[in-house]
Amino acid sequence: MAKGPTVVELLTQAQVEGLSLGQIVLKHQAAQLEVTEQDLRQKMLANLQVMRNSVAEGLTGKRRSMSGMVGGDAKLLEQRRQGGQTLGGDVLARVAARALAVAEVNAGMGKIVAAPTAGSCGVLPAVLLTVGEEIGADDAQLVEALFTAAGIGIVIAAQASISGAQGGCQAEVGSAACMAAVAAVELAGGTAELAVHAGAMALKTLLGLVCDPVAGLVEVPCVKRNVTGAVNALIAADMALAGITSNIPLDEVIIAMGNIGRAMPCSLKETALGGLAVTPTALRLKEVFLGAGQD
Ligand code: SF4
Repeated sequence: MAKGPTVVELLTQAQVEGLSLGQIVLKHQAAQLEVTEQDLRQKMLANLQVMRNSVAEGLTGKRRSMSGMVGGDAKLLEQRRQGGQTLGGDVLARVAARALAVAEVNAGMGKIVAAPTAGSCGVLPAVLLTVGEEIGADDAQLVEALFTAAGIGIVIAAQASISGAQGGCQAEVGSAACMAAVAAVELAGGTAELAVHAGAMALKTLLGLVCDPVAGLVEVPCVKRNVTGAVNALIAADMALAGITSNIPLDEVIIAMGNIGRAMPCSLKETALGGLAVTPTALRLKEVFLGAGQD
């Protein structure tokens, strides 16, 4: 049985009080934690700065993972973007390069903000920093968008899961994409209702995504899945802002995600016993990088 807050409850409160989802989440969190809203804003501002730093560091291409499988790809894509060569256009490439950058920093044991997890840390900063640039948002607006994302993450954690070990990668990258899509719509000036539709569309398209990390490391396919989550969130936000809605409400999508996670075999939930993790190449990489024998 589902417990905890629901999206529709947040949405109703936002509409009744004439506030954004981010403002409602901030208000509730401040009351629950018995701190001032200003204190929480300051803490979130610090998170925003960590996000910015991780993007900047990742784009230098200097951070490599311990195994050597991951690192330097964000810089490659950023160089191609700066050369005006990308097929998908500048905004898409900026989002993708930033998602790679932050996920590479995480794989290299650098400092990131888990949003909602370390494995999915690239999605939210990539989307929000880029959308923020596009609309000329200031830090206060970005901080509010982070509260929007946090509120959705709280609901997902309560109603389903944000853990790859419990729900597969849909619970990590899927949840991050959902959070980013909702926050991006509010950041861009869309209503809370449209924002929630964006979240539903972003999460729906990642349902069923398994967790199958090569050698059990949060590197492959994790880093590149952050790009998928971020781009997916951006498009879901654009669809919602265009007036496209999800036929299935976000609360029901979240419950479905939890049910799918429970139905997934353990081999596809962070155990590295299935999916990509047991391909011949993955097993070879595991042996090379970790010195482990093939199971
Ligand atoms: S594949 Fe697994 S470890 Fe990697 S990001 Fe997804 S949930 Fe996390």
